[in-house]
Amino acid sequence: MNVYDSEKIKSLLQNKGLEHQESYDDADVVILNTCNIREKAAHKVYSDIGRINHSNKDRVIAVVGCVAQAENSEMLKKNQSIDIVLGPQSYHLLPTMLDDVRDRKVRSINTEFIVNEKFDYLSEQGKPKGVSSFVTIQEGCDKFCSFCVVPYTRGPEYSRNYNSIIDEVNSMVSNGAREIVLLGQNVNAYQFKNGNKIYRLSDLIDKLTTIKDLKRIRYTTSHPINMDDELIDLHSNNKKLMPFLHLPVQSGSSKILKMMNRKYDVEFYRDIIFKIRDKSPNIEISSDFIIGYPGESEQDFINTLDLINDIKFTQSYSFIYSARPGTKSAMIEDNLTKKVKSERLKILQSKLTEIQHDFNKTHVGKKTSVLIENQSATNPEYYFGRTPYMQSVYIKSNNLINGEEKDIKITSCNHKSLYGTC
Ligand code: SAH
Ligand code: SF4
Repeated sequence: MNVYDSEKIKSLLQNKGLEHQESYDDADVVILNTCNIREKAAHKVYSDIGRINHSNKDRVIAVVGCVAQAENSEMLKKNQSIDIVLGPQSYHLLPTMLDDVRDRKVRSINTEFIVNEKFDYLSEQGKPKGVSSFVTIQEGCDKFCSFCVVPYTRGPEYSRNYNSIIDEVNSMVSNGAREIVLLGQNVNAYQFKNGNKIYRLSDLIDKLTTIKDLKRIRYTTSHPINMDDELIDLHSNNKKLMPFLHLPVQSGSSKILKMMNRKYDVEFYRDIIFKIRDKSPNIEISSDFIIGYPGESEQDFINTLDLINDIKFTQSYSFIYSARPGTKSAMIEDNLTKKVKSERLKILQSKLTEIQHDFNKTHVGKKTSVLIENQSATNPEYYFGRTPYMQSVYIKSNNLINGEEKDIKITSCNHKSLYGTC
């Protein structure tokens, strides 16, 4: 989502006459788009500012995104070189704020939740030209998992206007996009009311399917309690919807899921996967895991490993629990040592890697459909693309076209990528 937002900010400022620079050394204005999901990401902002400031103290520095939202005016106190602090709902105000800093030499803050205004304004800005492009359709979250800052930084759940999403995707496709990734913190909670009709994610995907040159549709990130039957059915009857589902479980222990306030237990999660695989046997699942949540026992951890063994997630993200200020779980005493957490993370990640590698190996010697995204800039004999399951493929060829979907013979692999020729 930050990648998508950064693109929007870039074109917003280009429309105001600013030019994008590859390096901050050449820039008069530096904008740091920040993530607050874990402590490490939040701390990075201050070390980055130190580095930027070192080479030129006259630059305007704007901190935008979720760290700006969470730390607010504290940021200006903590670091004198920050000129602008701007939350994720008000990026459209950035040009005016930059004028204020330049003309009136004042430091400026805005962290209000005015999300619909942002979308109305930003949907007109810039049309990214990537073969695979993101489109945010939903923002914010009302679920309040005990560990998570998103409801506080991105605000309540908000779904974008159905027609304006279709217009944006249409214009992206006419600019060369062939794959669209629909984004939201809880993308499958998408719900847009128009008169008596309520449009859900499945309705939106069905509609986007009619765009002729659009070849692939994905959506991320989904919450298990919002996996409705229409969406599950869509995976079995919509050929443009890719057979790959990112459905974060976080833990394989129902005790921990309850403490996390995830609103489902492990049986509920297993049942959904069973239902999906029953209707779409070729679907692959990926997940997010949090390791070392306060109170996680050895048995809870083993339950998570058991779930991984049973479901066979083919791609996943895993993190050590990070206590975030203001969340419920930040008040719980953390009973686990750093060492135990790191050891568990290592075991879990090596299991995930092994499954991913085994899955990649099943493709070697076979042909698989790849959407070609780009040609290597350093080595033009190679192209990059992705399979329906999001695997990265590097292809040796001199006759591929960006944006085409092609059957590629896979010759080798490692746990991360596939290699092929054409
Ligand atoms: N809405 C999605 C997740 C969005 S946040 C969902 O509910 O699944 C992306 C991921 O960051 C989460 O899935 C979680 O695994 C991780 N995460 C969020 N807060 C965290 C924390 N405090 N410590 C460690 N990981 C965290
Ligand atoms: Fe955070 Fe996702 Fe839980 Fe919302 S549902 S609070 S975004 S982890």
